[in-house]
Amino acid sequence: MNEMSCTLLVVGAGPGGYVCAIRAGQLGVDTVIVEKDRPGGTCLNVGCIPSKALIHVAEEFEKAVRWADTASPLGISVSAPAFDLARAIDWKNHVVGRLTNGVAGLLKKAGVKSVHGHARFRDGKTVEVETETGPLLIRTQQVVIATGSAPVELPGLPFGGPVISSTQALSLTELPKSLVVVGAGYIGLELGTAFAKLGAKVTVVEAEGRILPLYDAELSRPVAKRLGELGVEVLTSAKARGLSAGKDALLVDTADGERRVAADRVLVAVGRRPLTEGWGLEEIDLDMDDRFIRIDDQCRTSMRGVFAIGDVTGEPMLAHRAMAQGEMVAGIVAGARHAWDKRAVPAVCFTDPEIVAVGLSPEEARAAGREVKVGQFPFSANGRAMTRLGEDGFVRIVARADNHVVLGIQAVGQGVSELSAAFGLAIEMGARLEDIAGTVHAHPTQGEAFLEAALRALGHPLHI
Ligand code: FAD
Ligand code: NAD
Repeated sequence: MNEMSCTLLVVGAGPGGYVCAIRAGQLGVDTVIVEKDRPGGTCLNVGCIPSKALIHVAEEFEKAVRWADTASPLGISVSAPAFDLARAIDWKNHVVGRLTNGVAGLLKKAGVKSVHGHARFRDGKTVEVETETGPLLIRTQQVVIATGSAPVELPGLPFGGPVISSTQALSLTELPKSLVVVGAGYIGLELGTAFAKLGAKVTVVEAEGRILPLYDAELSRPVAKRLGELGVEVLTSAKARGLSAGKDALLVDTADGERRVAADRVLVAVGRRPLTEGWGLEEIDLDMDDRFIRIDDQCRTSMRGVFAIGDVTGEPMLAHRAMAQGEMVAGIVAGARHAWDKRAVPAVCFTDPEIVAVGLSPEEARAAGREVKVGQFPFSANGRAMTRLGEDGFVRIVARADNHVVLGIQAVGQGVSELSAAFGLAIEMGARLEDIAGTVHAHPTQGEAFLEAALRALGHPLHI
């Protein structure tokens, strides 16, 4: 059997693993990364990037359809637009290809050796990889597990036939006439909205009493309103039971009894599970936190020299958390004394309108025993939002009542994902309301709603 050795072995080249390997390589650590599929993991290949590409296509097409159907207040009219999903998927694949090739290049540039194949642990310092040219044994001093996650399957609705996961949904070449989405969380609503805009009849089935239960109700309200405008039917407190005998409908238990919802395709998006099987977890016997690998504030597992990062370590299962963990671990392996001390991990939901949440909501802050000041500013009073026909939504700031240190910032509105950087920076730097209120915000921008929310929390807004 071929053998190689290294100082650091990273298993999985998703955003957690590849960032860790690049930084470790840059820091002079002799690093090997093993990936069984393409570099970039879920995020670049079947997650963040392809979903945002499809969402963009859908947004552009829906605008054209709208201006063909109704007189546009902007004076634009178009004749009936046409759409070719196969061509859009080709474009999406091209974007993905550019990024995955980019990651391969960055790894090489950092001096990281990439091995293509399925890795399996023999023990905490030895991994066997099934490569195209036969088995390869890699001996390492330290190892990072970054194996990611996979879609959860429902017992009554196994994937196959009309029942698909987000991975298949992002590669359909024919638009389903009717699509039922099970789960009104991130994936269900991001992709459900996109397919509705592209022309599918979409029904969403959610077990909880409202959509996006992860966010507070005020934030999800504008999204629910827009789903209604797009003709999406939302069934809440509803549970998918299984396919009909003819496999052409989903049977759903609702408070009003059983519903039969016709469906060409059923997209099951009820969460993701950590990928902890198939790579020899049993050989290293790590402590677990429920289904996830238990880690400390340095991403160390219960075994010396074994780190874990990203989705395999728990919530929030977000690419930027995985990347930040990966970068930190690379530093630790290179000898730095880092620990996870982030104040907040921003969450962005790319629905229509978009949602951003960083830090604590008003309820979470109060539940933590804080007395708070809350300032909220609506986009209906923001000039830039008006000029973009995007007046729904608001920016909200939650701060400590005593010293005005900001605890949380949330927003819902068109394009607010780009405000997440300013929100994250404010919280990470320990900003007070006065710091935000004292910052000159460019005009006319939606960011001015951030300034006004701070002013409002201080009791003296200018534009409302
Ligand atoms: P992954 O990206 O899952 O990478 C793990 C890698 O390990 C994979 O490439 C896998 O092939 C490899 N691997 C596993 N086992 C082995 C083995 N034994 N040997 C070799 N290789 C192995 N997050 C966001 O922050 N923003 C978004 O907008 C967003 N959108 C998403 C949309 C969708 C549809 C989905 C599904 C997810 C989305 N996410 C988003 C979540 C994001 O993709 C994940 O949080 C992120 O990819 C996790 O990174 P990771 O490195 O932990 O794991
Ligand atoms: P999710 O946790 O966001 O949402 C799952 C939804 O399914 C929940 O609302 C839940 O109540 C519902 N549900 C669970 N069981 C159900 C059942 N039997 N019937 C009906 N509804 C049911 O999960 P997801 O949408 O699958 O996304 C998985 C993960 O991927 C997310 O947690 C997130 O970490 C990541 N992701 C992030 C983004 C982003 O950052 N923009 C986008 C997509 C995915």
